[in-house]
Order: sequence, then C-alpha cells, then structure tokens
Amino acid sequence: MSFLAQTAEDPSPEPIPGAADGRAHLFNGRTAERYRRSVTDGVGLVAATVARAERPFTGVTPAELAPEISGIDLERPLGDPDAALKELESVYLKDAVYFHHPRYLAHLNCPVVIPALLGEAVLSAVNSSLDTWDQSAGGTLIERRLIDWTAERIGLGEAADGIFTSGGTQSNLQAMLLARDEACTLVEKEATAAGEPIAKSAILPRLRILTSQVSHFSIQKAAAILGLGYEAVIPVPCDQDRRMRTVSLAHELNRCRREGLIVMAVVATAGTTDFGSIDPLPEIAELCDRHGTWLHVDAAYGCGLLASPTRRHLLDGIERADSVTVDYHKSFFQPVSSSAVLVRDRATLSHATYHADYLNPERSARKLIPNQVDKSIQTTRRFDALKLWLTLRIMGADAVGTLFDEVVERAAEAWALLDTDPRYEVVTEPQLSTLVFRYVPPSDGPCDPDLVDRANLHAREALAASGAAVVAGTVVDGRHHLKFTLLNPETSLSDIAYVLDLLAEHAGQYLALHIEPEFSGPRHSRAS
Ligand SMILES: *Cc1c(COP(=O)(O)O)cnc(C)c1O
Repeated sequence: MSFLAQTAEDPSPEPIPGAADGRAHLFNGRTAERYRRSVTDGVGLVAATVARAERPFTGVTPAELAPEISGIDLERPLGDPDAALKELESVYLKDAVYFHHPRYLAHLNCPVVIPALLGEAVLSAVNSSLDTWDQSAGGTLIERRLIDWTAERIGLGEAADGIFTSGGTQSNLQAMLLARDEACTLVEKEATAAGEPIAKSAILPRLRILTSQVSHFSIQKAAAILGLGYEAVIPVPCDQDRRMRTVSLAHELNRCRREGLIVMAVVATAGTTDFGSIDPLPEIAELCDRHGTWLHVDAAYGCGLLASPTRRHLLDGIERADSVTVDYHKSFFQPVSSSAVLVRDRATLSHATYHADYLNPERSARKLIPNQVDKSIQTTRRFDALKLWLTLRIMGADAVGTLFDEVVERAAEAWALLDTDPRYEVVTEPQLSTLVFRYVPPSDGPCDPDLVDRANLHAREALAASGAAVVAGTVVDGRHHLKFTLLNPETSLSDIAYVLDLLAEHAGQYLALHIEPEFSGPRHSRAS
C-alpha cells in the first residue's frame, strides 16, 4: 500500500505505543494527534481500496476466507495500527462486497453519500449516547429536529413524534408493540365499561395483524417477539402488481370481526422488498378508518420518495398512517444503521416508556428534560441522526431525492429492456427500483421448469463466484427468479445489459450441460 509506505516514512513525534500501554490508545486531548493520524490512515486505505475496486466482489468463498480469520492469534496484538490495517486488508477489505460498485445489483444496500460518512466519523468519536439529555445534549435536539422534519414530509400532523432506530426490523417491532398495547388498552376499557373486566392475557390470543403476502418478514418476527406467535399475522392476497388487494383486506377485516378476533394493526408496505410495489394507501387508510384499526405503513424502502422532487405523490395516503417505518439506510443513501419509526400521536409512544431512577426518573419528564429513552426500546443508542443531519445541511433533500429518482428511472428503462428480451420473463413493471425476472430457454430448448429453476440458481451463483456482478434471487409462485435491486445512480443501462448477457450465458451453459436426454446437446456422464 503506497499510503502505508508514506505513513511509515512520516517521522512520528511520539513512539508507537506498545500493546500493553493501554492508556496511549485512549482517545483524549493528549492523544488527539494520534487519533487524527490513525483515522486518516484508515480512511486512506479505504479510499485507495475503493478507487481501484474493479468488481463488486472477488467471489471468495467462506472456506477460503475462514482459515485466514481463524489463523489470527487474538492473544498476540500487533500493537501497531499500520500492521493491523495491512492485516485487515488481507482478511476483509480485499474481499469485501462493495455496494458502491455499479454492478452490485443485489439487495437493498445503497452507495453512501460523503456527508453521511463525515457524520459517521464525528458521531463515533464524540460517542454521544442518545438515551438521555445528560449523555448527548445537542444530539438529542438534532435527532428531534430530524424526526419532526420526517413527520412533516409524511404529513403526520402536529402531534407526531418518533425515534431513530437500528433499522426497519426494529422500527416495525416498535410499531407493532405500540399497536398491540393500544388495542389492549382499548379492549380493556370497553370491557370495563361494559362491567366485564378482561385481563390482557385473555386479549393477546385474539389479536391479529393483517398485511400483504409479500410484506417484510420482520412483521412475523415482531408478532412472535410480542408474544402473539407467527400465526397472528394473516397474509392478505395481492393483485398482479403485488399490491395488497383491498377487496381481500375488507373481507379479512369483516371475517376477523365475525370470529371475535381483534385486528390490532393493518400493515401496508410502501415499497415491498422484492417488487418495490406500493400498496394502495388511500383505500387501505379508508378501511382502517372505518374499522377503527391502527394503520402502520412500512416505508423502509419507499421512504426515499419523501425527498423526491417528482415522485412524492406515489406515497399519497401515507399521511393517514398511525405509524410509519423509514430506513434512511436504504433510500436516503445513508450508511448502516439509520432508521426511524414515526407516530401520528406522540402519546402512543408511552407504551415504550419506563422510568428508571438512575437514568430517566419521572422527575426529569416533569421538568421537560428531553430523554429520548422514554420513546425507545433501546437504551444506549448511537447518534445515527447526525449522518442525515450533515447530509441535509451539505447536500439538501432535493439532491438526495434526485438520486433516488434516478434509480427509479433506471429501473423503468431496465424493465423496457427486459420486457423485449426473449431470454427473460419479467414479473412486474416496477414502481420503485427492483426488477424480478427469470431466464427462459429458447422455445426449441429444454423446458422442464425444475431444470430452468436450477439454471437460474446456477446463473446467480456463477455470476457471484466470478465477481463480475452481484444479483439477488427470490422465489415467485414457487419458481426461482433473479432480482436486481437498483440503488446506485452510477449503474448505467449498459451495465444492466452487460449483466443480463452474463446471466444468460451462465444459464445457457448450465442447460447445455444438464439437458434432458431427448434433446441433443453435450451430455456429461455425471450430470446432476
Ligand atoms: C429492509 C426492509 C425491512 C427491514 O429493515 P432492516 O433495516 O433491514 O432491519 C423492513 N421492511 C421492508 C419493506 C424492507 O425492505
């Protein structure tokens, strides 16, 4: 590494501390210069690595990499940061998966913006913890401003509030916790008023969550964690475009009522993970109103539209939600982790409040000291909000939204490309930036769907092993499909066309080797 050589030549004013000299490694006023050098070296290494990454991945296998990691003796520290960075390069950076690369097309991982990386560097060094005012001061106020900003973009109204979380999974869990406890409170109140008090334990088994069959699995997990069981989640069928069918939702709401079940929440998805489809929010909100049901909108993926100068209308209806999940680390180009859950009525957050004498006594709530732990299911919590803050202060929301617009446009162009490509079948026209498709053999080729399934699986694996590109896979109607998630504005249509050629080549080769006997073609004796 050229820059490592440079730092080695750079005469250090202080000798590099030995491993045993723990104090020399503490970050404080005395070591500020060492901190600056050490972090600058690390940044230099990452910058150099990213600058010369020609592929999103090297295709390294766990079997190849595991011995390198397990071979490192953790009882023998290197002492010297340069040596540790060199080692890190060989066990991690060299073979990492690089989301910034235009041919990384797999999961909902975005390339990140530099203002957010600047925020990350600041927040980890200052290391505020946002559970209480007395551990964060201005950090708490910055987080609150960003919650208000997001709630305003959604249109949740004056009483809205929320909290930053570790990700969409946690945001969804917290939303379901609030919805569950709101439902229980309501049922308890009604039962008491009717002179027949009921225990919470008797209510829980009757609670149900309605969500589309392609919503995120974290809803099921939340139900399990909340003591309701996976079965409490009732999947609502979707239309051809993978959007929740409101007729079916109405049907389920009525059925639950008839059967004495309590729908504690309807979860609509604004940007499904596989298809990027947005459930019909206005119609769903209407049904929730009519049934007095909590509406949660999972906009983990679609939230980027909140900043879009041209596509905000795709989220129309989201302003009627009781709670909303947003993942800034998906469509706001923020590093992991950065997410939030927002609520229409700040009072509902009290279901997550617990006053601990040593941390956030009721006394401080009465004195209006802002302790964010009162609203969170975490205690010690990162100042992730700082990344979004610097992003908005340096770039502005329009610039972020325009980046997201670009990937949505690219997906539409890519759909047109796929739709006319005889080598592929494409499932739905995307509303956001995912494409789900399947390689199909030429009409005179083999057509056993199981074989075609295996060819699609193989194409994805072979591509990843080559490192030329990384794509995802999913199952649609029982069949293996390939999937692009486009989140990088630097991905061009020719990148996409190139990857489609590579995939078709891998799939075609697989079919040629594993073809059924009745078709002519090369056969291998141990084809399996
Ligand atoms: C990614 C995703 C989640 C989970 O978010 P994490 O940040 O990965 O925990 C939830 N819902 C949807 C629709 C998602 O796409």
